[in-house]
This record gives sequence, structure tokens and C-alpha cells, in this order.
Amino acid sequence: MAYARETPMVHAGEDPAAHFGALSTPIYDAAVFAFPDAAQGAAIHAGEQPGYFYGRMGNPTQAALEAALCALEGGEAALALASGMAAITTTFLTLLRPGDHVVAPLAMYATTTALLDEVLTPWGVAVTYVDATDPAAYAAAIRPTTKVLYLESPANPRLQLVDMAAVVAVARAHGITTVMDNTFATPYNQQPLHWGVDIVVHSATKYLGGHGDLTAGAIVGPAAFVHDARWRIHKILGGVIAPQTAWLVLRGIKTLALRMVQYNANALAVAQFLAGHPQVQQVAYPGLPTHPQQALAARQMTGCGGMLAFEVADLSAGQRLIDHLTLCQLAVSLGDVATLIQHSASMTHAAVPRERRLAAGITDGLLRLSVGIEDANDIIADLATGLAAI
Ligand SMILES: *Cc1c(COP(=O)(O)O)cnc(C)c1O
Repeated sequence: MAYARETPMVHAGEDPAAHFGALSTPIYDAAVFAFPDAAQGAAIHAGEQPGYFYGRMGNPTQAALEAALCALEGGEAALALASGMAAITTTFLTLLRPGDHVVAPLAMYATTTALLDEVLTPWGVAVTYVDATDPAAYAAAIRPTTKVLYLESPANPRLQLVDMAAVVAVARAHGITTVMDNTFATPYNQQPLHWGVDIVVHSATKYLGGHGDLTAGAIVGPAAFVHDARWRIHKILGGVIAPQTAWLVLRGIKTLALRMVQYNANALAVAQFLAGHPQVQQVAYPGLPTHPQQALAARQMTGCGGMLAFEVADLSAGQRLIDHLTLCQLAVSLGDVATLIQHSASMTHAAVPRERRLAAGITDGLLRLSVGIEDANDIIADLATGLAAI
């Protein structure tokens, strides 16, 4: 029987029969597991037979989370890791060799840009940054050595969208792998694998965990790729998720659908309020008619999520606003139950050179809001107080 998408979010990964009937997957705080015998020991150690033997290579709590991630994204296999950056680093190192080329968005999570520029480029990987809202820009950047088209949608921090079907078509025509960061949308609002994207990565630190109390990451994709990522690269890099953290992410996922309904509704209400405020010059939210890709959002997303960006006059107007807020917390990160606001130019993107920042649409007066699950009217009242202080 096919369930509605909310149902697997409550039950995914559960296997009570494997845990003495426990309905909450136990936390396996074991770094070492004994082999049943020599032959099975050899097979498990080589990754040829399922089983556990050492903390770096997984445990039943992590496996339950990985099963849940597969169910959420509709993927064949998943690998849970210590952070979103561990997931992204492991994915790139699994797919790339020196001499290979990557096409990536000009506007994306700043640490992913830093990974490409400061780690992979010196190791001999070439990168071309494109306006990812234009699928033709991906096509134009392709070289004989291109191995990965990288997507992030909605993108940090201006909520630009990538047309997944169009970019997948470009990649498939050239036999290139597509990787998508689905952190902002979550599998509740968007399922990249259903659009033909090969591999999805997540910062589970954000909506999947959902409470701002853990750091974790995930990779979901074809079984052969995930096996290669786990056994050839992750085994060596060692960005292992702790069993307690895996359990917390599993618990977060149980309320993901409920939280996303509230995020989607609250963010739309806040975006509409901001769009009508005289001190606000611009609001970027895929659910507003002023978003240049609202039709694409309606096509490939089932909800527009909790993230939005808006612009006030300049740096000091932005600083006055955030200094007069009491409910919204001045903090980086996102996907928390609480509303978080941050100033991209001085915080998350401070390390990005100003010209690159501006090219990515990150102006000095840009504020990014991760709308929480509080009452929408209370969030709006707090922002109204801040805007009145400008
Ligand atoms: C936070 C984030 C990351 C990095 O994840 P960590 O868990 O902080 O390592 C990657 N991509 C996006 C879109 C993010 O928001």
C-alpha cells in the first residue's frame, strides 16, 4: 500500500522486531561488534555482507536513520555523516579525480564554495561557477572533463531556484552526475531524485534535526554510489555521526511533516507582511508572485519552505533592525523551531570577496530569515518593531 508522504516521516527506519520490540530505535553506543565467525568476519569487514564491526563503519542506530533518509527522499541507499560538510566533501571526493571539472552555482552555501576553491582546486579539480537559474549556463560550461553538475535550490541566501528537470536533461545528454543540496527545501517540500537528480546531500543540522541541537549530514543516492562513498572514501575521511546524534535526527524526522506545514505557512505570511512594508526594498521568497521563478517553484516544490531574504536600505539600517528584535534571534544557521535572523554580508558570507558576494546578490542590506514555528503574528510584530527603528 502506498502511504501519503507524511506517514513514512513518522515511521521510516523503524524495525521493532530487530530491537526487542522497541518502538524508539535504541542508541547503540558500541564502537566494536564481534564477528560471528571467521568467514562472516572477512565478508563484513570487506563490506560484502551486511553487518557491523567498528564504529566508523556504522551501527544499527545509524542504519535506522539511513533507512529513514531513503524513505524520505525515495532513494536506494543513504549514508549519514557528522555534518552537512562531511556529506558534501565525501560526495565530491567519491566522484572526482584531479583533472576533473565541476559546474556549480555562483550563489550557494558559502562553505561549499570554499571547499571547491580552497581544497579541491589546489588538488587539481577545475570549477566553473554559473548563474544556476539558467540551465543553458550549465550546458555552456560543460567540458570533456566535466564530472559533476552541482545544484542547490532554493539557494542560500536569495532563494534562487534551479530548474531540476532542465539541468538533469543537460547532464544526462553528457553522461554527467548531478548532485543537489536539498537542505533548504527538505524532502517534504521537494524530492530531487524524483526529478532525475542522481545524488542528494543534506545538512541534517537544519530542518531534518530541526531543533538546533545537533550537527549532522546525509547523502542519498544509488546503492552503488553510496557503497563506494562509504567503503572507499568515508571509511578514510571518518566524518562519523555519533549514535546519539543519529537518534536525535531520527526523532526530528518524526515531526518533519508537521513542522514543514507550519514553516510553509509562517514564511508565506511573514513574506507577505515584509513585501508590503515601506522600509523593505525587496523580499525573496519563492511563494511570492514577485519571485521571478514562482512558476518553477509551483512545478517542482510542494511548499516553499521557511527561508526568506529581504533587503533594507543599507548596512546600518540592517544593524538597527536586528538590534531592536526580541523574539527573532540573531544567529546563523536555519531550520530551527525558533525564528533566526542573520546579516549575510557580515556573517555567513563575510569570507566571500565582496565582488563575488554582490555577483551572488548578497548586498550590504540583505537579511536572511529562517522563519520558525512560533505564531506568525508574533514573528510579524517583532519584525514590525525592528523595522520601525530603522
Ligand atoms: C548548513 C548548510 C550546509 C553545511 O552543513 P553543516 O551541517 O553545517 O556542515 C550545507 N548546505 C546548506 C544549504 C546549508 O544550509
